[in-house]
Amino acid sequence: MKIYLVLPFIFISGLLARPAFDDYFENKTLRIDYSHTGTADAEIFSLEQVYEEGEWPGTRQHIVNDLNLGSYQACVYDADSRELIFNYGFCSIFAEWKTTDEAINGIHRTMHETVRIPFPKKPIIFSLAKRDVNNDFAELWSTEIDPHSRFVNREKKKIPFKVEKVIDNGLPYAKVDLLILGDGYTKKELKKFRRHVRRYTDVLFASAPFAERKEDFNVWTIEVISGDSGIDQPRKNIWKDNALGSTFNFFDVERYVLTLENRRLRDIASVLPYDAIIILFNTPRYGGGGIYNCFATCYTGQPANSPDWWSDYVFVHEFGHSFAGLADEYYSSDVAYNDMYPLHVEPWEPNITTLQMDGQPKWHASLTDDVDIPTDWNKSAYDSLSHLRGELRETDPDYETKRDVIDGQLQAMLNAENFDVVGCFEGGGYASSGIYRPSLNCRMFSKSLVEFCPVCEEAIRRVIDYYIE
Ligand SMILES: [Zn+2]
Repeated sequence: MKIYLVLPFIFISGLLARPAFDDYFENKTLRIDYSHTGTADAEIFSLEQVYEEGEWPGTRQHIVNDLNLGSYQACVYDADSRELIFNYGFCSIFAEWKTTDEAINGIHRTMHETVRIPFPKKPIIFSLAKRDVNNDFAELWSTEIDPHSRFVNREKKKIPFKVEKVIDNGLPYAKVDLLILGDGYTKKELKKFRRHVRRYTDVLFASAPFAERKEDFNVWTIEVISGDSGIDQPRKNIWKDNALGSTFNFFDVERYVLTLENRRLRDIASVLPYDAIIILFNTPRYGGGGIYNCFATCYTGQPANSPDWWSDYVFVHEFGHSFAGLADEYYSSDVAYNDMYPLHVEPWEPNITTLQMDGQPKWHASLTDDVDIPTDWNKSAYDSLSHLRGELRETDPDYETKRDVIDGQLQAMLNAENFDVVGCFEGGGYASSGIYRPSLNCRMFSKSLVEFCPVCEEAIRRVIDYYIE
């Protein structure tokens, strides 16, 4: 497979065309595995293995889409005509790692990643682009792939785990196929896993907009069996033989849970048609994570039928990240600005803005009539109380009791008179200043069972529409 440069004009002209699925693709999946290597300043991609997998579960209508989500974009060009025939935005764990001290200090790391595309009928050029300082995509790597070459691995994986379609609403290509995997469940705990799957699918489909779109989803499960119960907790020196490699303290962050075992995850998932993955990890300890078009993780509370609303919150919040590319709308009152979202460009995430587009947010069509931009709210009182909460957390042994009282007061402030307003409320994307969120409160803002704000709901609907057409 030779590597060569693809000129930028191909990408621009290709976006104008709307290629037909059947002209270029068969109803199968091509899985492209590669390694993503580098430091804070450098990124290198290298092809690892290409696989032929089962039926294509994704879109057929929007193979070239204008969702404009993700910090990376995979583009597929017909090798003969150079026409853009498929694009797919995503985020990566590597991109988050690049912001860590380890990466900034010049340490190199490699992460294994996967992009799945519909199976091409003819040779293609596969290209990966990343957003530049102005948030435009710039190509970093491309390689030619002949789908009929003997270097495409065509073996059908067999896995020793039970596979089930727990919600069946029709053919995979016309539905969002959500795959729920268990991590840290032993063979004896599979009943518990099934109870957890029921619980969290009920939670998801009780929240808007998933509730009214439930018929657009299939839900699949694979009953992955781990050697040990639970997952790794490095800061507590707890190490488990859990099948999917999920671990607490990812990037040394207390409650951040992700896995680097991408190849194993994708090998197991390959037996099913899937669009989105959620990993339920079997521990009562609060934690989770979500990377856009990669996967989400969520802890499972204890026991399965107890009223643990925290995990209900985490499940839907993290799926908001991984499914629709939603940003965290929360911020710390102690952090004015951060490096995550440079203030000179509009972030691509649908639910935060830096007001860099003529002073208007990207959700200008959804703004409440005559709303002021930015929109006033009782930010200073909210910030003082949240700051106090932070101080108590560090110093007060009775913090957990006081926390619940303070959280109630914070929620009351967010349920103030302009609760229903869609505007631009300052504070979002981890920064207290310069970044704005659409509504006072949202599932992406506060740790509560509040619904998504109207802008987040619309962003989720748009992604559902992308998959089902
Ligand atoms: Zn929101």
